[in-house]
Amino acid sequence: MPAPGETVDYTRNGQPASIAVVEDEPAVGQLLIHQLNHSGFRSWLAVDGYQAIEMMTQQTPDLLILDWMLPGLDGLQVLQYLRRTMACEIPVLMISARADEPDLVRCLEMGADDYLTKPFGIAELVARVRALLRRAERGNLPRRNGVEATEHPQPLQVGSVVLCPDTHVVTLDGQPIKLTRSEFRLLAYLMGHAGQTFSRAHLQEAIWNQRHIPGDRSVDNVVLRLRKKLGSCSSYLEAVWGVGYRLSPP
Ligand code: CA
Repeated sequence: MPAPGETVDYTRNGQPASIAVVEDEPAVGQLLIHQLNHSGFRSWLAVDGYQAIEMMTQQTPDLLILDWMLPGLDGLQVLQYLRRTMACEIPVLMISARADEPDLVRCLEMGADDYLTKPFGIAELVARVRALLRRAERGNLPRRNGVEATEHPQPLQVGSVVLCPDTHVVTLDGQPIKLTRSEFRLLAYLMGHAGQTFSRAHLQEAIWNQRHIPGDRSVDNVVLRLRKKLGSCSSYLEAVWGVGYRLSPP
């Protein structure tokens, strides 16, 4: 938590932005958590790649700080899993002692948004975290060629679900629900084209600007999570056998 009297300077829906840290060196991990919390964020720690993925499956943070060298799955494998399998688009800041240019380029090409070489100063880390959150908020991260703020500036409504592209607020029977960025983008796209059926390949390309590989379950995984969150309205989101998905009013 922030120190008494300290102002939380970055919030999401009134809550401090959440940050997951994946770092296998306990002293470094604990220090990062302490400093991030002291800077007004909510943060938590995973100590290896498997724990990181399990944690992200349960709760998607607003940003991930990911160490490259980890036991088990390394940072790049975690990153690949997040981007390809989970279609998770949160900003990722990689940290590593590896400082060669080819390493940096590899990380960025795999989907990291920024890279910091160890050892680094906490002030620089926090500044980069804030910058990434700001860019993500504005939709300025490179692969986000977004449906959310451009195509449909007016609120979209299908049945009891209302989605505001500008504010990123989604309500279900008037109650706000919390969606990840991927879930929001898929829902925005389908609500903007209600009644139309789209293939997985179309959705993956249109929403995430990624080529669909046969057998890739990214879209299905996002649909599954979205259905759970839509509760009584989950039936709006229909699988069309052999084709893909559509969103239909009740
Ligand atoms: Ca390490």
